[in-house]
Amino acid sequence: MPELSLLTWTVGIAALVIGILAGHFGWGKRWPGSLSKLHPDYLTGLDYLVTEQPDRALDMFLKLMDANADTIETHFALGSLYRRRGEVERAIRIHQNLLAREELAPEHREQALLALAQDYLRAGLLDRAEGLFQQVSEVPRLRASALDSLRGVYERQHEWQQALDVYRLLARIKAAPPCLVAAHYMCELAALAIERGESDTARRLLRGARAEIAPFPRAAVLRAQIAERDGELGLAIRLLRTALREAPKLMQEELPHLLRLVAPDARDAVLGELVAQAESRDLDELKHLVFAAISAELTDAAPLRAPIEKIFAQDATLQSVWRSSPGQFDAERSDARRGDAQRIAHEIGALLAHAEKYRCNECGFAGRNFYWHCPACHSWDSFEPYAIVKLG
Ligand SMILES: [Zn+2]
Repeated sequence: MPELSLLTWTVGIAALVIGILAGHFGWGKRWPGSLSKLHPDYLTGLDYLVTEQPDRALDMFLKLMDANADTIETHFALGSLYRRRGEVERAIRIHQNLLAREELAPEHREQALLALAQDYLRAGLLDRAEGLFQQVSEVPRLRASALDSLRGVYERQHEWQQALDVYRLLARIKAAPPCLVAAHYMCELAALAIERGESDTARRLLRGARAEIAPFPRAAVLRAQIAERDGELGLAIRLLRTALREAPKLMQEELPHLLRLVAPDARDAVLGELVAQAESRDLDELKHLVFAAISAELTDAAPLRAPIEKIFAQDATLQSVWRSSPGQFDAERSDARRGDAQRIAHEIGALLAHAEKYRCNECGFAGRNFYWHCPACHSWDSFEPYAIVKLG
């Protein structure tokens, strides 16, 4: 049994044993002189534990533990513990065991249904989770919690309109997450509308997103796609410049897009402005621009030469590569140094193509692709590019 799982069991079984004893003797009653009245199955359960048969032990203890007012919280605490530990099947058994008891009070039945729905969500059984969350959302005291979880179910299924509808219900009871989330739902819907060629619908949705939150760079990027398709290149360029100014983290994704739209003779002017903008802020932003330029094979662009050399000389990861380059501190050999910078840039570019470029600042999930919605923890807008070259 893995170490974490063993810890879970230690804590879980301690809770169960306390629960059994509490149910058996009753809290607050005088403690009996001996434990000889314990049901023999209790000792059998302990024996299962000792012989490392945790599921049989759990069955035995659940059978023994009365779901009365004294022990009900122990059931819920244990179920929640298992779910958090990822041992969802055990959590499901605990909550199903509760629901099978006819004497269960209505408020505990509702709570058990909510807990079981959360188990199903964690297990990826989305249809079952959806049905139970809908059912529980009719209970006023559990409505906010059930609706918020239902929103999560629709997010996982990419049912963005339903997620938005539930968001509106939550807003009505003042339990909605930040408006950024609603803006992303509308952007998801707008992206689908753009794919279908429904520009009017997409524009309306993007206006809605910007009404939720502004500035909102994602809406600008999508609006630029529509403008580009409509042949409004000037507008598309302005929108992408705006998006990159507001969200430099989009540089890797959108710099190539922007440069495709500008005329070849205007490229260096645009790059020069981006360099000036990054330098006026901080070194990390200049790094994002340099890495994006390297990925886009722009290392020969005149405005980028000095920033590339600057970043190579200052970045801790790249410093060793840079120092090994002959003549880098020799002012007389500036051409050789430039050649080295170009060579290193190409090598870094090849490495970047296979490197992790982004990381979720909520859960640490890292990958080569940018996501607005973290595939691991489902946070919105949590992806940031590495400010260092992070290789694999
Ligand atoms: Zn995450």
